[in-house]
Amino acid sequence: MPAQKTQAIVIRTFPLGEFHKIITFYTPDFGKVKAIAHGVKSAKSRLGGSLELLNHGTLLFNHREHRELQSITDFSLINGFDAIRTDFTCITYGCYFAELVDAIASEGAANPEIFDLLQSTYQFLAQATDVPLLARTFELKFLDCAGYGPQLSRCAYCSALLAGKLLAFSVRHGGILCENCEYRDTSTVSLLPGSCELLKMLRTSELKGLNRIRASERNHRELKRALGHFIEYHTERRLKSLRFIERTL
Ligand SMILES: [Zn+2]
Repeated sequence: MPAQKTQAIVIRTFPLGEFHKIITFYTPDFGKVKAIAHGVKSAKSRLGGSLELLNHGTLLFNHREHRELQSITDFSLINGFDAIRTDFTCITYGCYFAELVDAIASEGAANPEIFDLLQSTYQFLAQATDVPLLARTFELKFLDCAGYGPQLSRCAYCSALLAGKLLAFSVRHGGILCENCEYRDTSTVSLLPGSCELLKMLRTSELKGLNRIRASERNHRELKRALGHFIEYHTERRLKSLRFIERTL
């Protein structure tokens, strides 16, 4: 296939020897693209500065199917999200979103919704008044786009309507279990009905509407736990950047 042109966000960079880097991009047209940037660490490299983590740009590359590493022809910067980089909390969460996409999204599968979500989240991040709430929103919307979204409106096992003072969120069954099915999973996460309503609200809310949503400390704790377990189940590991957030923020 000839040279391809697509928008892309840098979601991972990895040094290769003294001068090269392996870059993972997320693109709307090809999903994840892993490519080698030759000589990018040398002072003379034209691409050097533009291939920083989280940068959004136009990528030109030679697309070879079934090849593990593509070859970058050009990357011209559209947005470096400078407002994120000057704030420790924002850049830390920004790296987490990139790692999450890298861990779950697949190569070669077009998913423009994931690209739009990542790009609009980076655009909004520095204006968010509650960054952890934005993180939960990103997690939920991303899981939806990737086809793993949890069932929140009805029982994930028998489809019954949900009732009760505490709801049982089951990672294994992919959502809330009703009172009759709760026994099927002994390691559910308890959610107040209000936390479940909040999740449903985050799922459909536009990012700019998030600054009007208030969440209690308990809501925060429950959402973080439920979505955290859910993501760990699908990635089969605890993400490095999430551990860093827990230790430092
Ligand atoms: Zn049920």
